[in-house]
Amino acid sequence: MAKVLVLGAGFAGVNVCMNLIGSEHDVELLDINGSHEFKPGLVDLYRERHTEDELRVNLNKLFEDTGVKFSREAVEDIDPAEQKVHTNAGTHDYTYLVVALGSDPATYGMDVSSADGFYSLTSAKKSVKKVEDAEKVTVVGAGYVGVEVAGEISEMGKEVSVVDSATRPMSTGNEESSHKIIDYMNSEGINFKGGSAVKRVEETKVVLENGKSIEHDACIWSAGVQASKTVQDSLNVDRDGVPVDKYLRWRKYPQVFALGDCADLEVIDTAHNAIDQAEVVAKNIDVPRKDMVEYDGSEFPLLVSLGDSGLMMYKEAALQSSVFRKLKDAVMKVYLLNLRKKKLAGRIGL
Ligand SMILES: Cc1cc2nc3c(=O)[nH]c(=O)nc-3n(C[C@H](O)[C@H](O)[C@H](O)COP(=O)(O)OP(=O)(O)OC[C@H]3O[C@@H](n4cnc5c(N)ncnc54)[C@H](O)[C@@H]3O)c2cc1C
Repeated sequence: MAKVLVLGAGFAGVNVCMNLIGSEHDVELLDINGSHEFKPGLVDLYRERHTEDELRVNLNKLFEDTGVKFSREAVEDIDPAEQKVHTNAGTHDYTYLVVALGSDPATYGMDVSSADGFYSLTSAKKSVKKVEDAEKVTVVGAGYVGVEVAGEISEMGKEVSVVDSATRPMSTGNEESSHKIIDYMNSEGINFKGGSAVKRVEETKVVLENGKSIEHDACIWSAGVQASKTVQDSLNVDRDGVPVDKYLRWRKYPQVFALGDCADLEVIDTAHNAIDQAEVVAKNIDVPRKDMVEYDGSEFPLLVSLGDSGLMMYKEAALQSSVFRKLKDAVMKVYLLNLRKKKLAGRIGL
């Protein structure tokens, strides 16, 4: 029986395990936290559109009676040459390793400790508390997280500035979506400062490369992500993550799979992509190469909340409507329901 060790219980790791329920493998999942967090819903904490409990799934309960063993442990080092993983609780061996430790905020060598992150339930809760008492808020980074955060805070009646070194919000997406976001920001009175690289973040202001500064009572750092530092340091890979082949195996050690935010792939880091990759990894574990399936990197529509409205971005299209905001809420419910369905299907051998 092959021992499959899965590191990280985010969208990638949890879904690999869900897809392996009922398989003949001995599956163990490790995570530093006891729950699986629904990160796309974190922005809804600002206006209490969702509660903390609605955004997390208890991992012991999720994997109860499934054959998947969950252990709450912090991964400290991965040694692929020896096929061992060292954690705060001991050492694990494996036949196949699935690296799904996600990402950490990208800080570009800056000390951003006076800003709040918006990356996990813990950091989001801290930010919500700080923003409640603030009048002026600066959001650094106008990717989809920064745009969503700015929209929520603005709806709370706060004065919001968004700073990005790129000249348009969501600069990695199509131009039409940037236009729609700028129109939304203008209508809301959100001050977008594009083409402004941040030099320093202080308690009460953000200092820009051009010497100007923006004062605030609270600052949210959402300037993108890098592959998990644990992955970078222990596997000696760069900030893009583990370079994998089309079967999502690490080229250097083919018994090691990597996916989600900590894998170096030509797709954007989203929950949707991580779930899609999890299906491929689960199918490719312990099968001969000729029977493996390839990851095709299909693009999915991205739903971005703009306060009470929403934007649907797909390839060159960008559509705005409050329907997409409702759809985004529905996605969470469907996802959580699907986890239960997969558990049941795995247990009865479907
Ligand atoms: C605020 C926010 C909003 C987002 N909105 C959307 C959206 O609308 N749509 C979308 O598709 N995507 C969205 N994303 C992106 C999406 O959440 C990520 O792409 C997705 O979570 C990646 O899945 P993952 O499993 O690779 O990483 P994660 O989900 O981050 O999971 C990594 C897991 O590894 C664990 N871990 C990390 N380090 C260790 C360690 N040393 N030891 C043990 N465990 C460890 C963590 O606890 C975590 O459970 C959003 C992200 C954020 C932060």
